[in-house]
Amino acid sequence: MVQRPIYLDCHATTPVDPRVLEAMLPFFSDHFGNPASLTHVYGWEAEAAIGRSRETIAAAINASPEEIVFTSGATEANNLAIKGIAEACFSRGRHIITVQTEHSAVLDPCRYLESLGFEVTYLPVRPDGLLDLETLEKAYRDDTVLVSVMAANNEIGVLQPLAEIGAQCRDRQVFFHSDAAQAIGKIPLDVQAMQIDLLSLTAHKVYGPKGTGALYVRRRPRVPLAAQLHGGGHERGLRSGTLYSPQIVGFAKAVELGLAELGAESDRLIDLRQRLWQGLQPLGGLHLNGHATQRLPGNLNLSIDGVDGQALLLGLRSLVALSSGSACSTASTAPSPVLTALGRTDALAYASLRFGLGRFTTAAEIDAVVAGVIATVEALRQGA
Ligand SMILES: *Cc1c(COP(=O)(O)O)cnc(C)c1O
Repeated sequence: MVQRPIYLDCHATTPVDPRVLEAMLPFFSDHFGNPASLTHVYGWEAEAAIGRSRETIAAAINASPEEIVFTSGATEANNLAIKGIAEACFSRGRHIITVQTEHSAVLDPCRYLESLGFEVTYLPVRPDGLLDLETLEKAYRDDTVLVSVMAANNEIGVLQPLAEIGAQCRDRQVFFHSDAAQAIGKIPLDVQAMQIDLLSLTAHKVYGPKGTGALYVRRRPRVPLAAQLHGGGHERGLRSGTLYSPQIVGFAKAVELGLAELGAESDRLIDLRQRLWQGLQPLGGLHLNGHATQRLPGNLNLSIDGVDGQALLLGLRSLVALSSGSACSTASTAPSPVLTALGRTDALAYASLRFGLGRFTTAAEIDAVVAGVIATVEALRQGA
């Protein structure tokens, strides 16, 4: 078998942890019942498992189980949050505030709402990728109904100041949504302490299955939300469709493991990231993208002087699986809008590498990647 490249693209997705897979398996065959079938044991088994999963996920963010709405992932959760608030608050106000470095699953619903007559402010970020709280302070209007700011950025890993944003929003009685697709199970999240009203989650960035996630919707004070999928009235009418029991059980197991191992795993990843960053220093001309410490433990994003980005990725392709920018915008050939929002030139934005280290990354892999990146960059710089 041809050796496959080392996987350092954990912001795009992660493998399912074997312990997660084991928890999921019985729900494909033995316990296959429809959780909405309340007349027999097949349904009860599935419903009970979903109830336990709901409790686990709620507890992980300091919410209560009735506040969790299962969805197909963070894209759907973001759509439900943003369009759902816009529709429900239509008569109260039509202004939304978000940030230029958000994921397309936040930006695109916002652009869609603009096409319907809503107004959206896309705030810039500081050169370190963080939202400036005073900039946000000035953006509120009387008709602002929602602020949407992500927890952890999918390209540069920076962690936005959620508690401070939450406090501002609560003062002004504006709803606060956060996309926590990259954050759940990796950094502590607390919807009470952070005063978050809506929180989008997904399983597949935290060693759970693809195609499942959730939206937290605050009940006290109640957050009004218009459903975007209508049908059997599942999830208290907010998201119809038969719940996908194996996926939901796996999602809960993944979150549980992430939290149980969070402290030790963060330390391990920070050490590995430091090994990677230090190892590459002999190259010179490296620019760290994003705040040095206020970022996800497994994220390193850097730009390299004097190389062509396309040639660099091509040269590294057989050694290491990584990306420049987000997996969700790779169809476009424009430089990463996140890096240009930090003020990077097009050349530096193109010549960027996003390393996503994860649970299964080893020190030996980091050493191999360091050697490979150094050799490739040196060859490119010499025009070889
Ligand atoms: C991956 C990701 C999404 C999309 O999540 P899916 O579950 O794949 O729909 C949304 N936002 C961020 C920040 C992400 O990293």
